[in-house]
Parts: sequence; C-alpha cells; structure tokens
Amino acid sequence: MLTSISKQIIKKIKEYNTIVIARHIGPDPDAIASEIALRDIIKLNYPNKSVYAVGAGVAKFKYFGTLDKIDDVDFSKSLLIVLDVPRFERVDSVNPELFKYTIKIDHHPCDELVCDLELVDETSSSTCQLIAEIIYQSKLKLNREIAEKLFMGIIADSDRFLLSYTTPKTFNIAARLLNDYKFELTPLYNNLYERGINERRFESYIIENINISENGFGYIKITDDIIKKYDVDSSTASNLVNDLNFIKELKVWAFSSYDAKAELYKINIRSRGIVINEIAEKFNGGGHKFASGARLKTEEEVNELFASLDAVCKEDN
Ligand code: AMP
Repeated sequence: MLTSISKQIIKKIKEYNTIVIARHIGPDPDAIASEIALRDIIKLNYPNKSVYAVGAGVAKFKYFGTLDKIDDVDFSKSLLIVLDVPRFERVDSVNPELFKYTIKIDHHPCDELVCDLELVDETSSSTCQLIAEIIYQSKLKLNREIAEKLFMGIIADSDRFLLSYTTPKTFNIAARLLNDYKFELTPLYNNLYERGINERRFESYIIENINISENGFGYIKITDDIIKKYDVDSSTASNLVNDLNFIKELKVWAFSSYDAKAELYKINIRSRGIVINEIAEKFNGGGHKFASGARLKTEEEVNELFASLDAVCKEDN
C-alpha cells in the first residue's frame, strides 16, 4: 500500500515544476526536519525545479537549515506537500485551498481526507520516518546532510526510541540512515538536547510545583511571570513535557503556558495509556493518542479541559 502511494507521490513531484512544502504552526524538530529534508531531496534529484520549504522561522531550530520566502509563486499551477499536520487550519504560512494539487504525508490520526493524495500512517514514529521510507522505496538519492536531518526528526519525535510509536521499522530506518551515511551522532544530539541552565531550572520549577490529583492527573499553569522569571518562552514547556514520563503517580499530565504575545494558553498533554486526543479535539486541539495539545483563549477553558482530563483518569481507576 505504502509503495503504491509512494510511487504516486514521486510521480506528482516529477510532474510539477513548482513545489511548496509546508508543516504545522508551532513546529517541533520532526516538522522542521521533514520539510527541509524533503525540499533538499527534491532539489538534489531535480535541480531545475523550484522548491520552497515555508513557515515561520524558529531560532532554536536554525541548525536544520533555512526556510524559504514565497513571494512570486503562482499557487494555481503549483504542488503543495503538507507534512506532519492532519488538517488545513494548522498549516503554517500558506492557504492549501489555492494550490493546483495537494499531498499530505503525516503520522497524526485523521479521519477526513483533506488533500488530493495522502500518505497517513499513524503507526509511524515520525514524519521523517515516512519520508525516509518513501525515498528508500524509490531510486531517489539522499546525501549525508539530508540523512542527518531525517535521523534527528526520528530521534526527536520518538523521544530517542522511547515512545510507543517506536517499531522495528523505526530502528531499521534509523540504522540504515546511519549505516549509509556514517554521520557522527554527538553533534546531532548536541543540537537536539543542549539546554541553558535556565531551562533546567524551569523544569525543576515544574516538577516542584505540579499538582497531582487523587486520580493521577498532573497539571500546572505556567504564568507569564514565571516564563519571564526563568527567561524562557511559552513554547519551552513543549521541550519538557515528555520528561515527566514514567513518574509513577501520573497517568495523564498537562501544562498550560500563557503566551502573552498571542494572548492564548498553549496546552501540552501527555499520557501513559489513557487516550487523550479525543478530549483535546473537543477543545479544538488534537494530536496523537498519548501526546496531544490545544490552544485556548480563556482560563475557564483551561480549567474545563483539565477537569475533563482528571475525569478520564478517574474513570480509569
Ligand atoms: P506538543 O505538546 O506541542 O508537543 O504537541 C503534541 C501533539 O499535539 C503534536 O502532535 C501536535 O501536532 C498536536 N497539537 C498540539 N497543539 C495542537 C492544536 N492546537 N491542535 C491540534 N493538534 C495539536
């Protein structure tokens, strides 16, 4: 199945001279790595095509490479490939409706068909794993830099092979990339995991102050004052939320961080077995079964979401 969809994706890539690659807002390493890697793969194999990887730049992910501006692209003649994002509302910087043809490559659950062609595999650890699979099923070339990016996306989204979406395929693809291109791991891990001491202190603050309900729900509201005090930003909690995995007392945990600029509450939710994305979806959020998020406008909505998560932990007792 994957092979036939992969073939169709490559056929479409060959067909179009202008290709735009986009991913979700508030990107993580897998989203950024997959879009830059796919752009560079297309450029390497079809140097005459115009290929753009778009979206707001994120300073902390600069090591993945630069993103492109699209000032004079005729979308009505172009192909759009959206990566790591199930629905159009969360696509960063472009309006998918304007494109001649759209392709989605993703590992988030989604019942709706939103693109003309879709490769969605919920069992994949990451979008980078899917891109690597497509390439390895084809005759397309890779190079060391691209292989490193795909590897980092896999490592980041699987949380170093820790999360349940890690399968033999994940290990096989990571091993194949490493074996084929013999890159050094330490510099890659330095990029992904080096943190300022302020961020580690902020993590200690979270551990110290997280509330744990009798039902096993852990929650903390990170205010703008705390964000300023630790000199972090409202997206920093996303880097830390996985670190609370394996705490015996927690079944589900959620952080709310106030983003003063956007005037909204960013919610990170994680679970050790209770399905949480259906709850996140009720609050206009979404994500994976055990790793979800939402963006909420009011503290009341945050309280309601937290109450729903606590209730689902209670049901599980
Ligand atoms: P995060 O906690 O930001 O790492 O996000 C965990 C998962 O939830 C990722 O797969 C995100 O794509 C997804 N997610 C986060 N925020 C939202 C949102 N507002 N709407 C839909 N999905 C989201």
